[in-house]
Amino acid sequence: MKTGLTYDDLLLVPQYSDIRSRKEVCLKSTLSTKIELQIPILSSPMDTVTEVPTLLAMNSLGGLGVLHRYNTIADQAIMVHDAALEGINNIAAAIGVSGDYKERASELVNAGANIFCLDVAHGHHILMKEALQFLKSEYNQKIHLMAGNVATLEGFNDLADWGADSIRCNIGGGSICTTRIQTGHGVPGLETIFECAKSDRDTKIIADGGIKTAGDIVKALAAGADFVMLGSLLAGTDETPGKIFTGDDGELRKVYRGMASSSAQKDWRGRVASQEGVTSSVPYKGSLKNIVEQLQRGIKSGLSYSGARNIRELQLKAMWIQQTGASAIESSAHINKR
Ligand code: IMP
Repeated sequence: MKTGLTYDDLLLVPQYSDIRSRKEVCLKSTLSTKIELQIPILSSPMDTVTEVPTLLAMNSLGGLGVLHRYNTIADQAIMVHDAALEGINNIAAAIGVSGDYKERASELVNAGANIFCLDVAHGHHILMKEALQFLKSEYNQKIHLMAGNVATLEGFNDLADWGADSIRCNIGGGSICTTRIQTGHGVPGLETIFECAKSDRDTKIIADGGIKTAGDIVKALAAGADFVMLGSLLAGTDETPGKIFTGDDGELRKVYRGMASSSAQKDWRGRVASQEGVTSSVPYKGSLKNIVEQLQRGIKSGLSYSGARNIRELQLKAMWIQQTGASAIESSAHINKR
Protein backbone atom coordinates (compact mmCIF):
# COMPACT_ATOMS: atom_id res chain seq x y z
CA MET A 1 0.00 0.00 0.00
CA LYS A 2 1.17 3.51 -0.78
CA THR A 3 2.56 5.64 2.07
CA GLY A 4 1.45 9.25 2.20
CA LEU A 5 3.75 11.79 3.81
CA THR A 6 2.92 15.17 5.19
CA TYR A 7 4.59 18.32 6.47
CA ASP A 8 6.16 16.96 9.67
CA ASP A 9 7.42 13.80 7.92
CA LEU A 10 9.83 15.64 5.64
CA LEU A 11 12.55 18.25 5.77
CA LEU A 12 14.31 20.16 3.01
CA VAL A 13 18.05 19.51 2.96
CA PRO A 14 20.07 22.76 3.23
CA GLN A 15 22.16 23.50 0.15
CA TYR A 16 24.99 25.81 -0.91
CA SER A 17 23.65 29.34 -1.12
CA ASP A 18 25.14 32.45 -2.69
CA ILE A 19 22.24 34.60 -1.50
CA ARG A 20 23.68 37.36 0.66
CA SER A 21 20.44 38.93 1.84
CA ARG A 22 16.72 38.05 2.04
CA LYS A 23 16.19 41.10 -0.22
CA GLU A 24 17.52 39.02 -3.13
CA VAL A 25 14.67 36.53 -2.70
CA CYS A 26 11.46 37.16 -4.67
CA LEU A 27 8.19 35.58 -3.56
CA LYS A 28 6.03 36.64 -6.53
CA SER A 29 3.62 34.06 -7.87
CA THR A 30 1.08 34.20 -10.67
CA LEU A 31 -2.50 33.04 -10.40
CA SER A 32 -3.05 33.67 -14.12
CA THR A 33 -1.52 35.71 -16.92
CA LYS A 34 -3.56 38.65 -15.63
CA ILE A 35 -3.10 38.15 -11.89
CA GLU A 36 0.34 38.33 -10.32
CA LEU A 37 0.67 38.46 -6.54
CA GLN A 38 3.69 39.70 -4.61
CA ILE A 39 3.47 36.92 -2.03
CA PRO A 40 2.16 33.36 -2.45
CA ILE A 41 -0.35 33.61 0.37
CA LEU A 42 -4.17 33.48 0.24
CA SER A 43 -6.54 33.69 3.21
CA SER A 44 -9.25 31.05 3.61
CA PRO A 45 -12.90 31.77 2.77
CA MET A 46 -14.08 31.18 6.36
CA ASP A 47 -16.31 33.35 8.54
CA THR A 48 -13.61 33.68 11.20
CA VAL A 49 -10.91 34.53 8.65
CA THR A 50 -11.91 36.59 5.62
CA GLU A 51 -14.30 39.50 5.39
CA VAL A 52 -13.44 42.97 4.05
CA PRO A 53 -10.73 43.99 6.61
CA THR A 54 -8.76 40.76 6.00
CA LEU A 55 -9.22 41.13 2.23
CA LEU A 56 -7.87 44.69 2.34
CA ALA A 57 -4.94 43.77 4.57
CA MET A 58 -4.02 40.78 2.39
CA ASN A 59 -4.25 42.99 -0.69
CA SER A 60 -1.98 45.64 0.81
CA LEU A 61 0.58 42.94 1.63
CA GLY A 62 0.55 41.64 -1.94
CA GLY A 63 -1.48 38.51 -1.21
CA LEU A 64 -5.16 37.70 -1.74
CA GLY A 65 -8.09 37.39 0.65
CA VAL A 66 -11.04 35.21 -0.39
CA LEU A 67 -14.38 36.42 0.99
CA HIS A 68 -16.42 33.63 2.56
CA ARG A 69 -19.89 32.67 1.30
CA TYR A 70 -21.65 31.93 4.57
CA ASN A 71 -24.08 34.83 4.36
CA THR A 72 -26.85 36.11 2.15
CA ILE A 73 -26.10 37.03 -1.44
CA ALA A 74 -26.84 40.66 -0.59
CA ASP A 75 -24.42 40.65 2.37
CA GLN A 76 -21.63 39.10 0.34
CA ALA A 77 -22.25 41.49 -2.57
CA ILE A 78 -21.98 44.43 -0.16
CA MET A 79 -18.60 43.09 1.00
CA VAL A 80 -17.42 42.91 -2.60
CA HIS A 81 -18.77 46.38 -3.27
CA ASP A 82 -17.02 47.79 -0.17
CA ALA A 83 -13.74 46.24 -1.37
CA ALA A 84 -14.48 47.87 -4.90
CA LEU A 85 -14.85 51.16 -3.17
CA GLU A 86 -11.25 50.77 -2.02
CA GLY A 87 -10.07 50.42 -5.61
CA ILE A 88 -8.84 46.86 -5.21
CA ASN A 89 -7.82 45.13 -8.46
CA ASN A 90 -8.47 41.56 -7.44
CA ILE A 91 -11.58 40.70 -5.49
CA ALA A 92 -12.07 37.03 -4.75
CA ALA A 93 -15.32 35.68 -3.37
CA ALA A 94 -16.43 32.15 -2.59
CA ILE A 95 -19.54 30.53 -4.04
CA GLY A 96 -21.00 27.02 -3.88
CA VAL A 97 -21.81 24.62 -6.72
CA SER A 98 -25.53 24.15 -6.13
CA GLY A 99 -28.56 26.05 -4.86
CA ASP A 100 -28.31 29.79 -5.40
CA TYR A 101 -24.75 29.79 -6.78
CA LYS A 102 -25.68 31.13 -10.25
CA GLU A 103 -27.52 34.10 -8.80
CA ARG A 104 -24.75 34.64 -6.23
CA ALA A 105 -22.12 34.57 -8.99
CA SER A 106 -24.02 37.10 -11.06
CA GLU A 107 -24.50 39.51 -8.11
CA LEU A 108 -20.83 39.20 -7.13
CA VAL A 109 -19.71 40.04 -10.66
CA ASN A 110 -22.05 43.02 -10.72
CA ALA A 111 -20.52 44.16 -7.42
CA GLY A 112 -16.99 43.92 -8.85
CA ALA A 113 -15.60 40.45 -8.09
CA ASN A 114 -13.14 39.05 -10.65
CA ILE A 115 -12.25 35.76 -8.93
CA PHE A 116 -14.75 33.07 -7.92
CA CYS A 117 -13.68 30.43 -5.46
CA LEU A 118 -15.91 27.36 -5.96
CA ASP A 119 -15.65 26.30 -2.37
CA VAL A 120 -16.76 22.76 -1.51
CA ALA A 121 -15.33 20.02 0.68
CA HIS A 122 -15.23 17.32 -2.03
CA GLY A 123 -14.51 19.09 -5.30
CA HIS A 124 -14.03 16.02 -7.50
CA HIS A 125 -17.75 15.80 -7.99
CA ILE A 126 -20.38 16.04 -10.71
CA LEU A 127 -21.84 19.23 -9.22
CA MET A 128 -18.38 20.84 -9.49
CA LYS A 129 -18.14 19.70 -13.11
CA GLU A 130 -21.51 21.23 -13.96
CA ALA A 131 -20.78 24.46 -12.06
CA LEU A 132 -17.34 24.96 -13.64
CA GLN A 133 -18.69 24.30 -17.12
CA PHE A 134 -21.59 26.68 -16.57
CA LEU A 135 -19.41 29.47 -15.13
CA LYS A 136 -16.75 29.05 -17.83
CA SER A 137 -19.32 29.42 -20.59
CA GLU A 138 -21.17 32.24 -18.81
CA TYR A 139 -18.12 34.35 -17.87
CA ASN A 140 -15.45 32.96 -20.22
CA GLN A 141 -12.03 34.51 -19.48
CA LYS A 142 -13.50 37.45 -17.55
CA ILE A 143 -13.52 35.66 -14.21
CA HIS A 144 -10.75 33.56 -12.68
CA LEU A 145 -12.18 30.26 -11.46
CA MET A 146 -10.54 28.85 -8.33
CA ALA A 147 -11.98 25.48 -7.38
CA GLY A 148 -11.57 22.65 -4.90
CA ASN A 149 -10.83 20.88 -2.82
CA VAL A 150 -9.17 17.84 -4.33
CA ALA A 151 -6.83 15.21 -2.91
CA THR A 152 -5.62 13.40 -6.04
CA LEU A 153 -3.92 14.01 -9.38
CA GLU A 154 -7.01 12.62 -11.13
CA GLY A 155 -9.19 15.12 -9.29
CA PHE A 156 -6.79 17.94 -10.12
CA ASN A 157 -6.71 17.10 -13.82
CA ASP A 158 -10.48 16.72 -14.04
CA LEU A 159 -11.14 20.11 -12.42
CA ALA A 160 -8.52 21.67 -14.70
CA ASP A 161 -10.23 20.11 -17.74
CA TRP A 162 -13.65 21.29 -16.52
CA GLY A 163 -12.35 24.89 -16.49
CA ALA A 164 -10.63 25.59 -13.17
CA ASP A 165 -7.78 28.11 -13.39
CA SER A 166 -6.44 27.31 -9.93
CA ILE A 167 -7.21 24.45 -7.58
CA ARG A 168 -7.19 24.13 -3.78
CA CYS A 169 -5.45 20.90 -2.91
CA ASN A 170 -5.79 18.86 0.30
CA ILE A 171 -8.79 17.12 1.77
CA GLY A 172 -9.06 16.64 5.50
CA GLY A 173 -5.86 18.42 6.52
CA GLY A 174 -7.23 21.66 8.00
CA SER A 175 -6.51 22.42 11.66
CA ILE A 176 -10.25 22.55 12.46
CA CYS A 177 -11.19 19.70 10.14
CA THR A 178 -12.60 16.32 11.15
CA THR A 179 -13.36 15.02 7.64
CA ARG A 180 -10.87 12.16 7.92
CA ILE A 181 -12.36 11.10 11.28
CA GLN A 182 -15.98 11.39 10.13
CA THR A 183 -15.55 9.85 6.70
CA GLY A 184 -12.30 7.89 6.74
CA HIS A 185 -11.25 9.77 3.59
CA GLY A 186 -8.34 12.06 2.84
CA VAL A 187 -4.73 12.12 1.72
CA PRO A 188 -1.85 13.58 3.76
CA GLY A 189 -1.51 17.23 2.78
CA LEU A 190 2.02 17.39 1.40
CA GLU A 191 1.52 14.11 -0.48
CA THR A 192 -1.41 15.73 -2.29
CA ILE A 193 0.84 18.58 -3.41
CA PHE A 194 3.52 16.19 -4.71
CA GLU A 195 0.78 14.31 -6.62
CA CYS A 196 -0.93 17.37 -8.09
CA ALA A 197 2.45 18.82 -9.10
CA LYS A 198 2.78 15.90 -11.56
CA SER A 199 -0.05 17.41 -13.62
CA ASP A 200 0.74 18.63 -17.13
CA ARG A 201 -2.19 21.09 -16.98
CA ASP A 202 -1.37 24.80 -16.74
CA THR A 203 -3.50 25.21 -13.63
CA LYS A 204 -2.20 26.71 -10.42
CA ILE A 205 -1.80 24.65 -7.26
CA ILE A 206 -2.99 26.08 -3.95
CA ALA A 207 -1.83 24.11 -0.90
CA ASP A 208 -4.74 24.51 1.49
CA GLY A 209 -5.04 23.42 5.10
CA GLY A 210 -2.70 22.01 7.70
CA ILE A 211 -0.04 24.69 7.29
CA LYS A 212 1.23 25.60 10.76
CA THR A 213 4.48 27.46 10.21
CA ALA A 214 6.56 29.41 7.67
CA GLY A 215 8.56 26.18 7.30
CA ASP A 216 5.41 24.34 6.19
CA ILE A 217 4.80 27.07 3.59
CA VAL A 218 8.32 26.58 2.24
CA LYS A 219 7.72 22.81 2.06
CA ALA A 220 4.39 23.29 0.23
CA LEU A 221 6.01 25.62 -2.33
CA ALA A 222 9.01 23.32 -2.75
CA ALA A 223 6.68 20.37 -3.35
CA GLY A 224 5.08 22.25 -6.25
CA ALA A 225 2.44 24.60 -4.86
CA ASP A 226 2.12 28.03 -6.44
CA PHE A 227 0.29 29.39 -3.40
CA VAL A 228 -0.68 28.43 0.12
CA MET A 229 -4.06 29.12 1.66
CA LEU A 230 -4.06 29.87 5.39
CA GLY A 231 -6.81 29.69 7.99
CA SER A 232 -5.47 29.16 11.51
CA LEU A 233 -2.22 31.05 10.89
CA LEU A 234 -4.17 34.23 10.11
CA ALA A 235 -7.08 33.65 12.52
CA GLY A 236 -6.93 35.64 15.76
CA THR A 237 -5.61 38.80 14.13
CA ASP A 238 -7.27 42.23 14.40
CA GLU A 239 -8.59 42.05 10.86
CA THR A 240 -10.38 38.71 11.14
CA PRO A 241 -14.10 38.71 12.05
CA GLY A 242 -15.08 38.12 15.66
CA LYS A 243 -14.51 39.59 19.09
CA ILE A 244 -11.46 39.26 21.31
CA PHE A 245 -12.29 37.46 24.57
CA THR A 246 -10.38 36.31 27.65
CA GLY A 247 -9.89 32.54 27.75
CA ASP A 248 -9.90 30.35 30.88
CA ASP A 249 -6.13 30.74 31.08
CA GLY A 250 -6.47 34.55 31.16
CA GLU A 251 -5.07 34.83 27.62
CA LEU A 252 -6.76 36.98 24.97
CA ARG A 253 -8.28 34.80 22.24
CA LYS A 254 -10.55 34.82 19.16
CA VAL A 255 -12.87 32.12 17.89
CA TYR A 256 -11.68 30.09 14.89
CA ARG A 257 -14.08 27.50 13.53
CA GLY A 258 -14.48 25.05 10.67
CA MET A 259 -17.24 26.00 8.26
CA ALA A 260 -18.63 22.46 8.62
CA SER A 261 -18.61 22.67 12.44
CA SER A 262 -22.02 22.45 14.06
CA SER A 263 -21.91 26.05 15.33
CA ALA A 264 -21.03 27.44 11.89
CA GLN A 265 -23.71 25.34 10.17
CA LYS A 266 -26.36 26.42 12.69
CA ASP A 267 -25.44 30.06 12.07
CA TRP A 268 -25.47 29.95 8.29
CA ARG A 269 -28.09 27.34 7.44
CA GLY A 270 -29.99 26.96 10.68
CA ARG A 271 -29.37 23.23 11.00
CA VAL A 272 -26.52 20.76 11.14
CA ALA A 273 -26.01 18.33 8.26
CA SER A 274 -22.78 16.30 8.19
CA GLN A 275 -20.44 17.69 10.84
CA GLU A 276 -16.85 17.71 9.56
CA GLY A 277 -15.23 20.50 11.53
CA VAL A 278 -14.80 21.85 15.03
CA THR A 279 -15.10 25.20 16.76
CA SER A 280 -12.02 26.34 18.59
CA SER A 281 -10.16 29.51 19.51
CA VAL A 282 -6.67 30.82 18.87
CA PRO A 283 -4.56 33.34 20.79
CA TYR A 284 -5.19 36.96 19.84
CA LYS A 285 -2.27 37.88 17.55
CA GLY A 286 -2.48 41.63 16.89
CA SER A 287 -2.16 42.89 13.34
CA LEU A 288 -2.35 40.57 10.35
CA LYS A 289 0.44 42.62 8.75
CA ASN A 290 2.90 41.58 11.49
CA ILE A 291 1.96 37.93 11.15
CA VAL A 292 2.26 37.89 7.36
CA GLU A 293 5.52 39.86 7.42
CA GLN A 294 6.92 37.39 9.93
CA LEU A 295 5.87 34.51 7.65
CA GLN A 296 7.42 36.27 4.68
CA ARG A 297 10.78 36.55 6.46
CA GLY A 298 10.66 32.84 7.30
CA ILE A 299 9.77 31.88 3.72
CA LYS A 300 12.57 34.01 2.29
CA SER A 301 15.07 32.43 4.69
CA GLY A 302 13.69 29.06 3.65
CA LEU A 303 14.35 29.75 -0.03
CA SER A 304 17.85 30.92 0.85
CA TYR A 305 18.59 27.63 2.68
CA SER A 306 17.90 25.86 -0.62
CA GLY A 307 19.96 28.42 -2.54
CA ALA A 308 16.82 29.60 -4.36
CA ARG A 309 16.03 33.18 -5.38
CA ASN A 310 12.42 32.46 -6.33
CA ILE A 311 9.73 29.81 -5.99
CA ARG A 312 10.50 28.13 -9.32
CA GLU A 313 14.17 27.76 -8.36
CA LEU A 314 13.12 26.32 -5.02
CA GLN A 315 11.01 23.70 -6.79
CA LEU A 316 13.87 22.75 -9.10
CA LYS A 317 16.51 22.61 -6.35
CA ALA A 318 14.55 21.09 -3.47
CA MET A 319 16.13 18.01 -1.88
CA TRP A 320 14.02 16.11 0.63
CA ILE A 321 14.77 13.91 3.58
CA GLN A 322 12.26 11.94 5.58
CA GLN A 323 12.47 12.38 9.34
CA THR A 324 11.66 9.88 12.07
CA GLY A 325 9.51 10.60 15.12
CA ALA A 326 12.71 11.28 17.09
CA SER A 327 13.99 13.74 14.48
CA ALA A 328 10.61 15.48 14.40
CA ILE A 329 11.01 16.09 18.16
CA GLU A 330 14.54 17.37 17.54
CA SER A 331 13.18 19.67 14.80
CA SER A 332 11.12 21.79 17.16
CA ALA A 333 12.23 23.48 20.39
CA HIS A 334 12.57 20.57 22.79
CA ILE A 335 14.26 21.98 25.86
CA ASN A 336 11.15 21.23 27.93
CA LYS A 337 10.91 17.66 26.68
CA ARG A 338 14.22 16.56 28.25
P1 IMP B 1 -5.91 25.60 8.45
O1 IMP B 1 -5.10 26.64 7.73
O2 IMP B 1 -5.14 24.36 8.77
O3 IMP B 1 -6.60 26.17 9.64
O4 IMP B 1 -7.02 25.11 7.41
C1 IMP B 1 -7.88 25.99 6.73
C2 IMP B 1 -8.62 25.22 5.65
O5 IMP B 1 -9.47 24.22 6.26
C3 IMP B 1 -9.59 26.01 4.82
O6 IMP B 1 -8.97 26.78 3.81
C4 IMP B 1 -10.50 24.94 4.25
O7 IMP B 1 -9.95 24.30 3.13
C5 IMP B 1 -10.54 23.93 5.38
N1 IMP B 1 -11.79 23.98 6.17
C6 IMP B 1 -12.49 25.04 6.61
N2 IMP B 1 -13.52 24.68 7.37
C7 IMP B 1 -13.51 23.33 7.41
C8 IMP B 1 -14.33 22.35 8.05
O8 IMP B 1 -15.26 22.63 8.79
N3 IMP B 1 -14.00 21.05 7.82
C9 IMP B 1 -12.95 20.69 7.02
N4 IMP B 1 -12.13 21.58 6.44
C10 IMP B 1 -12.41 22.89 6.63
